[in-house]
Amino acid sequence: MTIQVESTTDSRFGTNSYLVEDDQTRDAVVIDANLEPDHMIELARERGVNVRAILLTHTDLDHIAGIHELREAFGDVPVAVHESERFVLEEGKPLRREFGPIATKIDGVVTFEETYRAGSLEFEVLHTPGHSPGGVTLKIDGCLFTGDALFAGTVGRSDFANSDGGALLEGIKTKLLSEPDDVVVYSGHGPKTTIGRERRINPFLT
Ligand SMILES: [Zn+2]
Repeated sequence: MTIQVESTTDSRFGTNSYLVEDDQTRDAVVIDANLEPDHMIELARERGVNVRAILLTHTDLDHIAGIHELREAFGDVPVAVHESERFVLEEGKPLRREFGPIATKIDGVVTFEETYRAGSLEFEVLHTPGHSPGGVTLKIDGCLFTGDALFAGTVGRSDFANSDGGALLEGIKTKLLSEPDDVVVYSGHGPKTTIGRERRINPFLT
């Protein structure tokens, strides 16, 4: 299996949504649903893929805002999330006490286990909490989708009430930096990087 990764970025928060597709079967998933889902819908149509699921690295609003429109376009595909943030989607409750309530209840929510399969794509699910309690990194075919845990040259915010800066660094060091140098990191914001580059230059990880 070879996978292809494409991305869209919204103009408001610079949040990345990723389209991950299996070259052979045309099965695909969307990772994170930024504020401009139209771009992702267009991209998926251009690529001619079958989107099988929406996978969430965590449930901050800028990563879930586009879910309803994506599901209107792609059918009622499952939305997968870590168990500890499932309530955000199912009950429409805010992830952060610092922000006002968000009223975006979603049905069809499923909980990540150690792996997640969508059509011919199988992801390994690594719990990388700290930016938020249910932060996950999704691993497939030499690629890591790290959400807001690890970025090129920096790490995610951990100044929210339900953040944990120690857990964030611990998870990155034990679960992500243990990967080989050439593994590609696709973050929730900003450009892609590699594990080798972050090991060398990321000032938060040395
Ligand atoms: Zn974010």
